[in-house]
Amino acid sequence: MSSLQFDNISVDEISPGFCREKDIAVSVLRLDKIHPVISGNKWFKLKYYIADALALGKKTIATFGGAWSNHIVATAAACNENNIGSIGIIRGEEAASLSPTLLTAQSLGMKLYFTSRSDYQKKNIPDALSDSAKNIYFINEGGYGIKGAEGAATIAGLFSAKQYTHICCAVGTGTMMAGLIKSSTLSQEVIGISVLKNNHEQQAETINLLTNDEKLKKFFINHEYHFGGYAKYTQDLIDFMNDFYKTTVIPSDFVYTGKLFYAVNDLIRTNFFPSGSRILMIHSGGLQGNQSLKPGMLIF
Ligand SMILES: *Cc1c(COP(=O)(O)O)cnc(C)c1O
Repeated sequence: MSSLQFDNISVDEISPGFCREKDIAVSVLRLDKIHPVISGNKWFKLKYYIADALALGKKTIATFGGAWSNHIVATAAACNENNIGSIGIIRGEEAASLSPTLLTAQSLGMKLYFTSRSDYQKKNIPDALSDSAKNIYFINEGGYGIKGAEGAATIAGLFSAKQYTHICCAVGTGTMMAGLIKSSTLSQEVIGISVLKNNHEQQAETINLLTNDEKLKKFFINHEYHFGGYAKYTQDLIDFMNDFYKTTVIPSDFVYTGKLFYAVNDLIRTNFFPSGSRILMIHSGGLQGNQSLKPGMLIF
């Protein structure tokens, strides 16, 4: 998709006053600026899957996601750009009207198949696809897998690693975090903020994507900032996102990056980070998901 704006990516230093007092600097890698709909980290996670599908001569890529999935719409866009067909296997029965996310995916040429929650959980292929399944390249939900992590590792090419002691990101499947661990230096720590409640497999799933050497690097997942679970939120989170926008002019999404920014802010306040820390937060996009909120809740 020629409308992707990689040149727009910037690293914005935002360090609020209370950080400077502690000699802590905070910057944001703005992957959200690539495109309003196709969020940054998804693009990176997809690129080696797409290359693999093309190398194998597959004509169609299929993947899984919910009605507001950033991964679904990014897959539709990436396939559209590479002239490869796309199929979205969507969790739950078809609603009377499609979400803006699914409408966008459809407009990018994606064919949608709706499956019951139980079929979805088992990752069953819809009957309508079973005959052609061998010609389809399947990508896991959320782009989880080694190729996804290797793609995410290339995010590190967008910032000067030496400048940061800590790299912080939101964690869903852990694929992006695994990529950031792969590309981290030995003196850095990668901190993931889980957006899921009590997902204790997340750590193992992230580690599964690492080589033995990479497993020795410094990283951990914090589970304290899920705000009730995946795609759940509180007024406190929404208020924080609005305040964060007022002071930094950086929009965030309530599923991932809002929780990340809240968490890092809170961890700085509570002196988790030592003086001298230089923190990079990854703005992994996802802003399109805010359309599922009531209008007016967010000021941006
Ligand atoms: C998918 C997504 C994540 C999580 O990425 P994982 O690799 O699944 O952990 C983070 N932020 C945004 C905006 C996303 O869309």
